[in-house]
Parts: sequence; C-alpha cells; structure tokens
Amino acid sequence: MADMRCFIGGQWVGAASGKTFETRNPADTDEVVAVYPRCDASDTRQAIEAARQAQPQWAAVPAPKRGEIFFKAAQILESRADSVAREMTREEGKTLPEARGEVGRAINILRYFGGEGARLTGEVAPSERDRVLIQTYRRPLGVVGLIAPWNFPIAIPAWKTAPALISGNSVVLKPSDLAPLCAVRLVEALDEAGVTKGALNLVTGPGSTVGHEIVTNAHVRAISFTGSEATGSGIALEAAKRRARVQLEMGGKNPTIVLADALVDDAVNVVVNAAFFSTGQRCTATSRVIVEEPILDAFTNALVERTRRLKVGNGLEAGIDIGPSIDSKQLETVLEYVGIGQQEGATVKCGGERLSAGAHARGWFSSPAVLTDVEPAMRVAQEEIFGPVLTVLPARNRDHAIELANGVRFGLSAAVCTQSLTSAYEFIHRIEAGLVMVNLPSAGVEYHVPFGGSKASSMGMREQGPVAVDFYTELKTVYLKY
Ligand code: NAD
Repeated sequence: MADMRCFIGGQWVGAASGKTFETRNPADTDEVVAVYPRCDASDTRQAIEAARQAQPQWAAVPAPKRGEIFFKAAQILESRADSVAREMTREEGKTLPEARGEVGRAINILRYFGGEGARLTGEVAPSERDRVLIQTYRRPLGVVGLIAPWNFPIAIPAWKTAPALISGNSVVLKPSDLAPLCAVRLVEALDEAGVTKGALNLVTGPGSTVGHEIVTNAHVRAISFTGSEATGSGIALEAAKRRARVQLEMGGKNPTIVLADALVDDAVNVVVNAAFFSTGQRCTATSRVIVEEPILDAFTNALVERTRRLKVGNGLEAGIDIGPSIDSKQLETVLEYVGIGQQEGATVKCGGERLSAGAHARGWFSSPAVLTDVEPAMRVAQEEIFGPVLTVLPARNRDHAIELANGVRFGLSAAVCTQSLTSAYEFIHRIEAGLVMVNLPSAGVEYHVPFGGSKASSMGMREQGPVAVDFYTELKTVYLKY
C-alpha cells in the first residue's frame, strides 16, 4: 500500500486536517492500493495561492525551455512506465496492455506539447495605415484549474496539464478520488524534470470541497473539466457567475452503424473493441450498434458469439479482455440498466450478470451484455451507462441508420462500418459528433489531433492537438508604428 501526499507549493504534504482516504483494487477489493490526503477547501486555497505566486516565474522561463522540461519529464515517465501501468491496473482495473498504452500516450503528450513550446506563434497582419504593423501573440491566463475523471487516470491529467503549463500558466490539478495514483506519478515526473516550484499543484479529495473551491475561487481564470454531464453542467453555471473560462468534456451515447455492405467479421471486431474494452468505461465507447436489416441476424449472431468468448477478470493476468467496473456503484448502475432494458422489452442475448464466484469473488465484475429488441426511445438506448452493455438497433437503410445515430442528446464519437465511399462520406457529413470513425472503433483516439464532441457531450474549445493551447491562452493584438 502506498502512502501518498499532495503537491502544494512545491512540497509533498498531507491535508492540514490530517484526514485521509483510500483506494482499493476493483479486481480484488481486499487490497488497499493507496492512501491519500483528504484535502478540503482551505488546502485547495493554499494550492491556488502557491500557483498564483509561482506563475510569473514559470511564465518567464522561455517557452522552448519549458518544452525541454517536458522532454525530460517524458523520459522520466518512460523509465517508470511499467510500474505506473501496473499501478493503474491495480487502482482503475483496466487490463495491463490497456494501461501500458495509456502511459505511452501520456509520454507522447508530454513530448508533443514539449514541441509546442517552440510553436506558440502569433500572426502578423497588414494595417490600413502606413508604416503600421499589426501582430498577435499568445499570453498565459494565470492560474488554471484542471478537474479529471478516473477512467483515463494519466492520459487526461496529462492532456490538460501539458498545454496549460507549456502556455505559461500555473496549474491546480484535481484527479478523481477513485484513481489519483497516476496523476501523482505524472506530477512527480514534471517536478523532477524541473517545473518551477509552485507552478504545478496537485490536490486530492472530494469534488464537493476541492473541486468546488477550484471552480469558485476568484484567482482561477479557467477550468478544464472532464467527467459526467451532471457535474459539468453545475461547474459551467458556477463558473459563469464569475465569468471564468470553461471547457467541459462529458458523456456520450456513441453509435456504430453497420451497413449491409460491411465486412461482418471486421465489423464485429470493431464493435466488440469499442463496446467492451476498458469495461465500456470510455467516454467514446460504443453503446449502440445500429445494423442495417439485411445483415441484422448474421451480425448479431456473430457479435453474441464473439462477446461470449471475452474473458473477464483481473487485468494484471495475461489473456484477460475485460476488467472490473471501477466500484460497487458503477457495477450496480450496469446491472440496473440491464434490468431496466428488460423491463422496457429488450432481450438480453448474453451477459449482464454479476460474476462473483471463484476468481471473480472479490471484484466488481459483470459479464459483457448484448441487448436486442431495443427501441430507440428506450432508456438503455438514450442514457449513458458507462459499462459493458451494448444495445442493438435495426435500421431500414442508411438514412434511417444516421437518423437513429443522431437521435440522442449526446454527440461525442460515432463510427460507421461500410465498404462504400459514398456511404462513408454521407455519414461523415451528416453525423452529429466531434469524433468520426470509418471502419474503426468509436473509441481509440490519437494524442496529436483535436478531441471533443458536440451537443450535450462537450462545451467550449477542443482539447489536444495544436488547438489545445487556445483554451489556455489569450491573444494580445499589437499595433506598431515605425
Ligand atoms: P464525475 O463527474 O463524477 O467526476 C469528475 C471529476 O469531477 C472528479 O474529479 C470529481 O471529484 C469532480 N467533481 C465532482 N463534483 C464536483 C463539483 N461539485 N465541483 C467540482 N468538481 C467536482 O465523473 P467520473 O465518474 O469521474 O467520470 C465518468 C464520466 O466522465 C462519464 O460520464 C464519462 O463519459 C465522462 N468522461 C468524458 C470524457 C470526454 O472527454 N468527453 C472522457 C472521460 C470521461
């Protein structure tokens, strides 16, 4: 069991109250993974004040030099990648190969934004007036607050922290209290690499105190949040009261359309990956597969057969496809939605059961579920479940499939399986989603291009890729006469 600290003003410290909380391995709840300070509003205010004090000094480090610190941090994290991945599997539950992939992504993010340090460019524009030059350049905002969920415990803290810091802001980072360990490892690497003391702070504790203070504190100029729609909506309202800048990435009800001309085996692989890997706990996971009627039976049979073969278990073991739900609450939600689906008239073709015997006895496991006879208006076809539950909806033709795909409040990611270029472009053009995949899983994005959704899934500017710094900077427009 690891005894962890927060990082405030460049020091690893406990909560002033001395209070703590623990995390447990969701695959083996007898194991306490780590103990953390249960910080409160006053600890958080200290972190914000430290960030405020340190920001000018950090911003004075030339941006390419800040980038060099990121390259070093990437190297440090790389040297620890395997142990960080194992910690992620023990605390969050995803399989070890998935955890390794995520740590690799965090390393790539550090390198990518390290490079951005040399590319924080502005523009030069002609003036209406003689001998006047107009130029724009980026300035940091000051202190920014970063609030992360548990399901990508290092990638999301990295893809918020890196653009915030490279732009010259100071940071107060709050990881989810369900899985803070990898965020601590990220901060350790950045600190050891030489980030100015106080410019990067990490505060662990509940959203209702630590998160609330970040959102309401007048010194925090911008808040980048990833998490549930309910929490995000509340944050947007609070932040609006004091006109703080907000970026929200929230839920999804992502569709994959399988058209009649798709290669069935390939489509099954795409859908199984998108729906069930990472236990369906990805914001971009497919939770609705919309199948054109001529291949509905063939596709559904192959899907069910493949789903039944998935191995559920402790993600540290070789050969496991799906780990546990993050906690008992999330597992209950999964099982509850399977029940709701049945009450609404859906048929559970496979899975949807609590697994609690033998190797599953001490974890939050359930078997991956495929639900058929699903109507578009059913709750299981409309609401985010965030677990290994997939609904199958029939579509009369391509237009009907796109209409069904768009018939939800969310619009994060969407996929289509087809061999037709025309159908692919129709889909790309008409689908209401920020991330669009053709013959690829709806989940599985890359680190160097913009990420975000439309409708109820997102609010504000995009994360990741070259545009990520837009959220963390403001432009100064300079008029210069010579
Ligand atoms: P959550 O909303 O419960 O928590 C997210 C974070 O907000 C946590 O750090 C939490 O402590 C904090 N928080 C809670 N209440 C707060 C408050 N009042 N003020 C400030 N902060 C508060 O979400 P979760 O359960 O950790 O994550 C799962 C959700 O995240 C799912 O809905 C999923 O779709 C979404 N998600 C979205 C994306 C995306 O990019 N769109 C990525 C990953 C996860």
